[in-house]
Amino acid sequence: MDATRTPLSGSHRDRVVLAAIELVNALAPGHEHGHVFAPGLSPVDVANTANAAFAGFSDNQSDFEPSDARETLALALSLQRIFFALGSQRVPEAIALLNMLLGKYPSALHLSVDEPWSLHYHDHTLPAHAGWTTGSAAALASFVSSGHWAYLGTCEAIACDRVFLDVTRNTSRRFCSVRCQNREKVRAFRRRREY
Ligand SMILES: [Zn+2]
Repeated sequence: MDATRTPLSGSHRDRVVLAAIELVNALAPGHEHGHVFAPGLSPVDVANTANAAFAGFSDNQSDFEPSDARETLALALSLQRIFFALGSQRVPEAIALLNMLLGKYPSALHLSVDEPWSLHYHDHTLPAHAGWTTGSAAALASFVSSGHWAYLGTCEAIACDRVFLDVTRNTSRRFCSVRCQNREKVRAFRRRREY
């Protein structure tokens, strides 16, 4: 591992990145585990899915609402593009996209007054999709500035583009799930038998 990069600590920032990953994998279309992934969720399902991804944050952010489903899906797509860029080492592209997201809504830099004290970037009075746009972009921007972006990956299995956080010791994770890992093992085995 790059010696200049500190390990992830499970901080508020790291948890926001995990929530952003969950949001992308649940809402952004593409491929998953060998199949086309096109969720086509109702506005209520979009809101429920986003609320599940960002559950567990005690920072008074309002809930995602079905009336904001379109904006919530747009956020998932924007974050997906950033994860793809970072997963393919296209950092300048990710930076341009992150700066666009950071400028989209007003931010409100502050520390939480209750423990665990953490640095928050978003205005909690804004709707959830707006607040978490700034929150997710700020967390990912911090990943870029600290070198942690190399922990972000996109599944290398055929017909899968789900994203993940790689916490293996030598940053060697290649697949989104055991399922994709096993699919690739079977494929490699078949390939070998063909020769
Ligand atoms: Zn996968």
